[in-house]
Amino acid sequence: MPKEHIAARTQVFNESVIREMTRLALVHGAMNLAQGYPDFPAPDFIKQAAIDCINADINQYAITWGSPRLRRAIADKTLRLSGLDLDPDREITVTCGATEAMMCAMLAIIEPGDEVIVFEPFYENYVPDAAMSGAKLVFVTLRGEDFDFDPAELRAAFSAKTKAIIVNTPNNPSGKVFRHDELQQIADLCQEFDTLCITDEIYEHILYDHHEHISIATLPGMYDRTITISGLSKTFSVTGWRLGYMLAPAHLSNALRKVHDFLTVGAPAPLQEAAAIAIEQADSYYPELRAMYGHKRGILLNALRESGFHCHQPQGAYYIMADFSDLKFNGDDTAFAHHLIQHVGVAPVPGSSFYKGPAGNTMVRFTFSKSEETLLEAARRLGTM
Ligand code: PLP
Repeated sequence: MPKEHIAARTQVFNESVIREMTRLALVHGAMNLAQGYPDFPAPDFIKQAAIDCINADINQYAITWGSPRLRRAIADKTLRLSGLDLDPDREITVTCGATEAMMCAMLAIIEPGDEVIVFEPFYENYVPDAAMSGAKLVFVTLRGEDFDFDPAELRAAFSAKTKAIIVNTPNNPSGKVFRHDELQQIADLCQEFDTLCITDEIYEHILYDHHEHISIATLPGMYDRTITISGLSKTFSVTGWRLGYMLAPAHLSNALRKVHDFLTVGAPAPLQEAAAIAIEQADSYYPELRAMYGHKRGILLNALRESGFHCHQPQGAYYIMADFSDLKFNGDDTAFAHHLIQHVGVAPVPGSSFYKGPAGNTMVRFTFSKSEETLLEAARRLGTM
């Protein structure tokens, strides 16, 4: 019997379906509306800041929990936008993206077998994050036009074994922005069952219509039990810079910082300084970002609806979940995604990648984080279906 060299924890999840779709898009020359990264330039002010910081020879390790100027910029922005008054020396930690922040959070709080509640559809990383930290995920399904949860189903998911709930607002892939009353219900249950909340707010600045972003950490009684995660990838169109951060009270931040230190030491030093400069001057940029994505949302929504998809209108983030049941395709979501890539020339992600249960089997997800040129060409190709 050969010795098993590979740890069991790596065998309960597969390679990212999203990156697999990107690979197929390249092979077949399809417009890649699968992976959520911009194909257009980042804003000049953040690029210039990075050039200046590299020229200033900021080349060595930053302080493990993040450059002082960046933590100060994050603290100031958080105070201005959500009213939370954080101590950058004790409550803010800069990471290599929100991806590292989520893994740090799970490793810092989970004992093997602890339960973690997550809403489906979910961002696919939460499944491997749970597997690697030993958490057992408990799923609560968001349903209907507005991706609402059933309060009774949510309550039933909580138990003495629940360590935390993961909230992601604005949500990938549904585009849902959690309302105040919904966050209040989650907050009440967290307090009743004495659980933590990990909230992934990476799309906090990408909102449409009248929708407003609310951080659950601002609700009464929640700050002390919440780890808030965000980052620069989506807001500044710099997914490759790998800059994220976590906000948490000092007793949680101490544990988060220990895990972060030994996972990565720290995020890229010159880019952290550039991020500080960008955040310091971004208040007037956020409305521009919303307007830009609002326009892109319109192009893709129209194209999908005209091609016969039933689409939920996203309230935030930059994805559209599109139901293809009316198109009478003979096959599941994965077959449909492959069909679109090979025969229509547009790459989506199969809906089942975002669900544990069957609810995603008639859906595919498209991103509109692409140039107008890419979206118009995708719309033209969808029109030939
Ligand atoms: N969280 C959500 C909900 C995402 O959609 C993504 C990227 O798609 C991430 C986190 C990853 O963010 P980062 O690039 O900061 O690691």
